[in-house]
Amino acid sequence: MDCIFCKIIKKEIPAEVVFEDKAIIAFKDIKPIASVHIVIIPKKHINSVVNLKKEDEVLMGKLIMTAKKIADDLKVSEKGYKLLIRVGRGGGQEVDHIHLHLLAC
Ligand code: AMP
Ligand code: ZN
Repeated sequence: MDCIFCKIIKKEIPAEVVFEDKAIIAFKDIKPIASVHIVIIPKKHINSVVNLKKEDEVLMGKLIMTAKKIADDLKVSEKGYKLLIRVGRGGGQEVDHIHLHLLAC
């Protein structure tokens, strides 16, 4: 499958990884739109929120809990930040591997 985020997971292309465990990896966005811009993804390839199944409920919860941990680690929790998921082309999604943006000024 020609998925750029799956290639990052498999270390076939480089990324500045800030967090990784069995289920999730997070890395710095290559074209940041804020001073802190992290992309957090499940290692399971899921195209979009549209394709989520009931079985993905726990994984998506873990994605948000990981964002919280990274925000704490990067010390942006007190000031505040945005969590963003784009859905489909109409929602501005460009990479078809579900991901959460963590954005902080
Ligand atoms: P979206 O528009 O929500 O699909 O966001 C995709 C994001 O992935 C964009 O912010 C891109 O800058 C980012 N991106 C694409 N390729 C890479 C890459 N190789 N490494 C890091 N971030 C990337
Ligand atoms: Zn993928």
